[in-house]
Amino acid sequence: MDEADLAQQEVELSLKLSLQRKEPSLAATGTCYFCSESLPEGQKFCDSDCEEDYRRLQWQKSQRVRG
Ligand SMILES: [Zn+2]
Repeated sequence: MDEADLAQQEVELSLKLSLQRKEPSLAATGTCYFCSESLPEGQKFCDSDCEEDYRRLQWQKSQRVRG
């Protein structure tokens, strides 16, 4: 392994960490977080629309707390 490989590993690691930080730790509950529809195991939202609406709602809540 040379220095380039090590640098590459560091980049990948920091990328992974930043992705984890951005993504809120939602556990899959079997129901949609937005509309509470039953979902297949491991899924958190029906589709990207529900996910988008949920995130918008969370954002609005966070704005309201500050205001
Ligand atoms: Zn949904």
